[in-house]
Amino acid sequence: MCPATYTCQCGARLRYRQDMERRLEGARTRWVCRDCGTPVPSATAEVLRHRDPS
Ligand SMILES: [Zn+2]
Repeated sequence: MCPATYTCQCGARLRYRQDMERRLEGARTRWVCRDCGTPVPSATAEVLRHRDPS
């Protein structure tokens, strides 16, 4: 089961791809919290990045 929202350690609620920031690390893409830059767990980021507010 994937969580609907991810709460970052800074307290930010990540719900959509806009809530994350994309970072390139070599060949990999890492998603981090837009507010504090903490990496989002890849499984969670995978779900959120397909989600858009609408
Ligand atoms: Zn954060």
